[in-house]
Amino acid sequence: MLVVKGLEVTYGGVAEGLRGVDLTVEDGQLVTVLGSNGAGKTTLLRAISNVLNAFNGVVTGGSIDWDGLNLVRTRADRIVGRGLIQAPEGRGIFGRLTVEENLRVGGFLRSRADQKTQQDHVLELFPDLSGRLREHAGLLSGGQQQMLAIGRALMANPKVLLLDEPSLGLAPKIVDDVADVVRRINQEGTTVVLVEQNASMALSMADYAYVLENGRVSLHGPGPELRDSDEVRRLYLGQG
Ligand code: ATP
Repeated sequence: MLVVKGLEVTYGGVAEGLRGVDLTVEDGQLVTVLGSNGAGKTTLLRAISNVLNAFNGVVTGGSIDWDGLNLVRTRADRIVGRGLIQAPEGRGIFGRLTVEENLRVGGFLRSRADQKTQQDHVLELFPDLSGRLREHAGLLSGGQQQMLAIGRALMANPKVLLLDEPSLGLAPKIVDDVADVVRRINQEGTTVVLVEQNASMALSMADYAYVLENGRVSLHGPGPELRDSDEVRRLYLGQG
């Protein structure tokens, strides 16, 4: 179980990233975090992966615990080694490397045999990539790059997968494909934390959802319940 309590994050000693966030993700759940630009969604993922220092950010209060680890005090590489993996933001893949090389980077902590098994699994999830293993990743379409970013994270065989706006900039049909894959990854037993601005996509599959506003949780509840709430419909689903 991932438990975030009273989390406060500051950037550069001034800007407030998060102002006291509580969030719980049970093992096996798919939990989504919604919110508009600048609400603090990415900051929350950076804090969980303990990579805030790369962005001049620091946890100034609260706690993050997972799998017996205090994540605020655990080095990022150790967190990854334990199986909590964040897919690269947006399309943060290596454009000059081939598709296969990108996948290998994601599985570098695993044995060769595990890498092979995992790569077969990733290619089964993303059949589009299997014919393109030797192509430069930078030449893939936006949707394929997003699939590769998720596939690369899956190469580490994560227990928990953190996804930052996987639908960003994709055509609606491709968003549906990404959603199907995320759902399937979760059904296969991986816990998923999905940050999204696309509320309808995220709420359609979330066990539980949080809405962040100005660094605080403004609403939370089971996915279907939030989808039907007047406030979410008005603010995020463009209805009412
Ligand atoms: P978006 O959808 O635009 O990514 P978000 O909900 O992920 O938005 P964050 O990126 O987490 O929001 O930003 C939360 C707050 O922290 C914002 O006020 C933002 O300006 C600030 N912030 C984020 N990164 C930095 C940084 N590297 N330095 C200073 N302030 C930052």
